[in-house]
Amino acid sequence: MEKRVYSFAPGPAVLPLPVIEEVQRDMLCLPGAGASILEISHRSKTFSRIIDQTEANLRKLLSIPDNYRVLFMQGGAFLQFAMVAMNLLRGSGKPADYIVTGTWSTKAIKEAKTQGTANVAWDGKPDNFKRFPKQNDLNLDADPAYVYMCSNETIQGVQYQTEPATGGAPLICDSSSDILCRPMPIEKFGLVFACAQKNAGPAGVTIVIVRDDLLQRSADDLPSLLSYKTVAENKSLLNTPPTLAIYVVKLVTDWLLGEIGGLEKMAEINRHKAKLLYDVIDASDGFYQGHAELDSRSIMNVPFRLSNTDLDAPFLAQSAERDLCDLKGHRSVGGCRASIYNAMPVEGVQLLADFMREFREKNK
Ligand SMILES: *Cc1c(COP(=O)(O)O)cnc(C)c1O
Repeated sequence: MEKRVYSFAPGPAVLPLPVIEEVQRDMLCLPGAGASILEISHRSKTFSRIIDQTEANLRKLLSIPDNYRVLFMQGGAFLQFAMVAMNLLRGSGKPADYIVTGTWSTKAIKEAKTQGTANVAWDGKPDNFKRFPKQNDLNLDADPAYVYMCSNETIQGVQYQTEPATGGAPLICDSSSDILCRPMPIEKFGLVFACAQKNAGPAGVTIVIVRDDLLQRSADDLPSLLSYKTVAENKSLLNTPPTLAIYVVKLVTDWLLGEIGGLEKMAEINRHKAKLLYDVIDASDGFYQGHAELDSRSIMNVPFRLSNTDLDAPFLAQSAERDLCDLKGHRSVGGCRASIYNAMPVEGVQLLADFMREFREKNK
C-alpha cells in the first residue's frame, strides 16, 4: 500500500481512517446485501436502511427537533446559494439580508441576486474579512424574507461564536465547513445546509436541514428538484441520490456517535487541535501571522502568513517532506492554511505545530 500523509486540504478533505477502512471492507460486499453499495438500487431495503440511519445519526448528533426535515441533495453547497433564494426569496415581496463575512457568503449573495433583492446587512470586505460581526454591527431590514450567514468561512478562517438575533426572520446558514464540529442549536435556524466533503463525508451529497413551515414557501412552479417542498415530500428520493456519498456520511456519523462519543467530545478535541496551532502563531513574535481576529478564529481552518513571504516556498516544501501536505493558502488570501477538520488526528496537528516551531527557530 502507498503510505498515507496528513492532508490539511480544505475539501474534499481527510476522512476518519476507520471509515475509509470500512468502506474498503464493504466495497466487495455490503454485509447482507450480496453486492457493494455501488451496485444496489436506491429503492432497495438495504439502501432505505442506510439513508434512514444516516438521518437518524444526524438527528441524534445535532439534536434536530422533530419539526425539521433532513434532506440529501446534489449540486453542492453552491447550488444551495441559488436554491435558498429561489424557494424563500423569489416571490416573497421582501428583501433578504446577507451577512457577508468572506468568499463563500460573497458568492451566496451573488446567486441570491438572480432571484430577488438581497441586501448586505454587514460587509467584512473593507476589513479584509477578518471577523464575524457583532449584533449591533448588523443593518437588518425590519421584515426580511430571511437573514443569511456562513458559520465558517473556509478561506478566511472566520467562524461565528453566537448566532445573530433576527427579530423572528428565519436564519439561513451555510455550515459547509463546520457542520458537526461542535453542537449547534438547530432550533435557532430556519435552514442549515452543508456540502459533505469538508467535515461530513465525501463530495457528492449536500445535507439540508429545514424547518417544516418554510417548505410552504416553495412556489409550485419551481422545477421539482429545485423545490425543497418536493424534495422533502419525496424523502430525497425523487431521483437517484448519491448513494455512495450518503453511505459514507452514515459511517462518519457512526464514528462520531461511537468512537468519538458525540459532538461535545468532538468540539473539545477540535478546540484542543486549533489551540496547538494558534499558540505557535501567537508565540512566534510575528514570524507567523494569523488572518482572523482572536474572537472570530475558526477551529476548522487556520489561515496564516509567514511575515517573510520568501519563506513560503521552503515552508511548504519542508512540511511536505514530513508528510504534512496541502498547506498552501487559498490564492485570494495567500500564505498557508491548515484545515483541521474532525477527521484530522491530534497527532497530525501536533506534528505540524512542532514543525512550525522548528522552522521558525531555523529561519527567524
Ligand atoms: C466548500 C464550500 C462551499 C462550496 O461547496 P461545493 O460543494 O463545492 O458547492 C460553500 N460554502 C462553504 C462555506 C464551503 O466551505
